[in-house]
Amino acid sequence: MRRRIVAGNWKMNGSKDLVKQLVGAVCEQSGNVGKDVEVVIIPPAIYLGQVAEQGGGRITTGAQNVSQWQSGAYTGEISAEMARDMGGCGYVLVGGHSERRQLFGETDSVAAAKVEQVLLSGLVAVLCVGETLAEREAGQAEAVVAEQVRSGLSVVADDQWSRVVVAYEPVWAIGTGKTATADDAQAMHSEIRKVLDGMNAPANEISVLYGGSVKADNAAALFAEPDIDGGLIGGASLKAEEFISICRSFPAGV
Ligand code: PEP
Repeated sequence: MRRRIVAGNWKMNGSKDLVKQLVGAVCEQSGNVGKDVEVVIIPPAIYLGQVAEQGGGRITTGAQNVSQWQSGAYTGEISAEMARDMGGCGYVLVGGHSERRQLFGETDSVAAAKVEQVLLSGLVAVLCVGETLAEREAGQAEAVVAEQVRSGLSVVADDQWSRVVVAYEPVWAIGTGKTATADDAQAMHSEIRKVLDGMNAPANEISVLYGGSVKADNAAALFAEPDIDGGLIGGASLKAEEFISICRSFPAGV
């Protein structure tokens, strides 16, 4: 179901103390966030249980990654089913995040395999897509993103679309301080909905988030766009006040 979501991807940052402080502070203020806004914290997997316990139902948690395989001899991996089994985990960022693509060589077919595992386990899959600067400058941004969406979501069955979220994260905007303009982001979100529509997905029912250097001072312009349903926030999610302020950046009435 399409909903407003702000998800904080902590990446490989955190400690037991940080979970205590940050989740505590976010939860304290979560009552001030619009009633239709879902606040999601995505810590390193080892802290998922602590975040879920401390969140006490006031926030949703998510995993940054799971294996493309269901179970077996894959040392170091955790499965989507394990993330579900431990409780408290609602979302999984599946392959497609540019750091997974660039640093771990994940491809669209790995992303699709992970989407399949996440959906099988009953959790929500967040597929990250986005073009590089070279692709944008070559006028290929729409084509690249369309192919990532089509491939990554090729495994979704008709009755699973309600557990799919797409995050558009231009690679050149992640962790760089550069953000897409609200107009450019809106244009790409609208394209993504057209691609989803072409896949016979309920395009207007799927949340499409923007990610890439979202901060308290640029979130409102992005979230005011009709096809932007919220954000996937990296660096700014590690500062409670900034993160909450982003969660409060939706137009009045949300
Ligand atoms: C991210 O890692 O998904 C992200 C959007 O990072 P940042 O907000 O730091 O650019």
